[in-house]
Amino acid sequence: MKEKMEFKTESKRLLNLMVHSIYTNKEIFLRELISNASDAIDKYHLTSLTDDKLEKTNDYEIHLSFDKKKRTITITDNGIGMTYDELVANLGTIAKSGTLEFLQNMKGKELKDTDLIGQFGVGFYSAFMISSKVVVISKSPFSEKSYKWTSEGEDSYTIEEANKTTRGTEVTLHIRKNEDEETYDEFLDEYKLTSLVKKYSDYVKYPITMEKTKEVQKLDDEGKEIEGKYESVTEKETLNSMVPIWNKNKSEVKPEELNEFYKNQYFDYTDPLLHIWTDVEGALTYKAIVFIPGKAPYNLYSEKYEKGLQLYAKGVFIMDKCKELVPDYLRFIKGLVVSSDLSLNISREILQHNRQLKKIEQNLEKKILNELEKLLKNEPEKYHAFFKEFGVNLKYGIYDNFGEKKEMLQDLILFKTVNNDDYITLKEYLEKMPTDQKEIYYGSAPSKEAIKVSPQMDMLKKKGYDVLVLSDEIDEFMINILREYDKKPFKSINQGDLDLLDESEKTKIKEKETEQKDLLETLKTILSSEVKDVKLSTRLADSPVCLVSGEGLSFEMEKVINQMPGDKDMKADKILEINPNHALFQAIEKVYNEDRESLDDYAWILYNQAMLIEGLSIKDPVSFADKMVKLMVKAAGK
Ligand code: ADP
Repeated sequence: MKEKMEFKTESKRLLNLMVHSIYTNKEIFLRELISNASDAIDKYHLTSLTDDKLEKTNDYEIHLSFDKKKRTITITDNGIGMTYDELVANLGTIAKSGTLEFLQNMKGKELKDTDLIGQFGVGFYSAFMISSKVVVISKSPFSEKSYKWTSEGEDSYTIEEANKTTRGTEVTLHIRKNEDEETYDEFLDEYKLTSLVKKYSDYVKYPITMEKTKEVQKLDDEGKEIEGKYESVTEKETLNSMVPIWNKNKSEVKPEELNEFYKNQYFDYTDPLLHIWTDVEGALTYKAIVFIPGKAPYNLYSEKYEKGLQLYAKGVFIMDKCKELVPDYLRFIKGLVVSSDLSLNISREILQHNRQLKKIEQNLEKKILNELEKLLKNEPEKYHAFFKEFGVNLKYGIYDNFGEKKEMLQDLILFKTVNNDDYITLKEYLEKMPTDQKEIYYGSAPSKEAIKVSPQMDMLKKKGYDVLVLSDEIDEFMINILREYDKKPFKSINQGDLDLLDESEKTKIKEKETEQKDLLETLKTILSSEVKDVKLSTRLADSPVCLVSGEGLSFEMEKVINQMPGDKDMKADKILEINPNHALFQAIEKVYNEDRESLDDYAWILYNQAMLIEGLSIKDPVSFADKMVKLMVKAAGK
């Protein structure tokens, strides 16, 4: 007798979501059904250990088949099966507390692609994403009879007796085909199903099998191949490898095996630079295998890049990019976390606040930084290679969150400097610092050479002080967050006052400044549209002029900020510094006293030169050139 029954209310809602799902990752249905089958076998096995009425066996199998003509996919297991009551209770009612909670939160909201479906799976009902009808035939070892459960994903389902005699469950999906709706023919394909098993269920511990038909060369009576003759042979093939790499003994897994695993899993062609394998046992038990790629993925800095580690719970693949496991600045790491403490069905919201995940993230972060420190110490070459690829991320890590992590990261940052050919750390900079040096100097330029020849280096070179070369956009922002290292403040070579002179030299310049007050004021007035001040320099030795910025925004930061989207117009204060000991200054004094009308041209030429040296573009190159020409003609004519 066929009975018709109504689904429970929440189940109806979930079913409705599934049937009308716009979720693009519909392929997860297979993972869900295989996971159920595997659980059912677990249950049978455990029960058989203590129940004498049950046959003891190790012959377990999850079988997969499909029929292109009938448009069906069938998943069969020899697990615990379901009695009549269990079919009603388990498939007629939503079982997962997480899902129920999620649905309650979703009231009135639209379910988006990225929402719960597929991220965690919604179990059995996910079959309805691609099926117009689902048939479950099941036999429990505790029931004489077997039953057939059928539903078309609407309000009701039917149950009737069936004639299955062997223990277990058989789930048949009738793949949806509709004139105007999407069809899911792609799943009715041997290759597709095989790759889905590989992708999602490779580490399920029971064999997942499928009949495969192959064309093989025909053999003659003596067993030799007959040329040009083929025959088709059907063989049962096990699709999954069953033993996950992390279930092997860490010491038995060769680095080459891990490299291959990395390349296969994370679609890379190059070996990883480093792998980190941790087994943690205790209040929270998990394993993690994390890789640092050899090369940064091409889209690492694009918005589309998704960070995250694969998450497995109890051998079942939960999700591909669990971002909660990776701090932003380590977004480049790949790998996986396996924990038996996590449940399969936690919703997204729960995930975000999941304390276990948070804890794993923190432990992993520490572990990774630790390994990087070791690498820096023991294999500096390799660390340098790492830093070239991913150093910017660590710098970002310092800058992010108002420097929350600067202590953890500052010793991992490498710098090029004016006096060193190799990268050095801040610690090394301090070790080599002359005793009279009070600050850590840095300059911003695309290359070390550009800084080396810049006028601001005059005095520093004389003193033998080294200067950090900042060439990444993030650098100055990072330095601003760091402020100091080991109590030594950072100091830009072209900002503010360098304070490099001794008292008598300082007094001399002060006196000269008072003496030439009128001249400096006049220059300042001429250039007032561009500069904030004109001063006698304390940092120049051989060069005639330079441009520095005030204490706030630097030229480099001005550039970076103005490049960012939005129409900001931030300006760094410009200060023109003139070398009082240079012949040019005496020339200007002379012009000021004897040839007043030429002073304008002199001032603008000076300013524009300083701009060019600083790598900034000048506003009116034509007028600059005209002024130069005028002066040259005049000089030659006189
Ligand atoms: P979950 O597996 O997370 O509990 P599902 O909606 O996938 O949720 O399945 C609901 C219940 O149906 C399961 O808990 C299980 O008791 C039963 N079930 C599903 N598939 C099978 C199967 N292949 N064999 C035995 N029982 C099953």
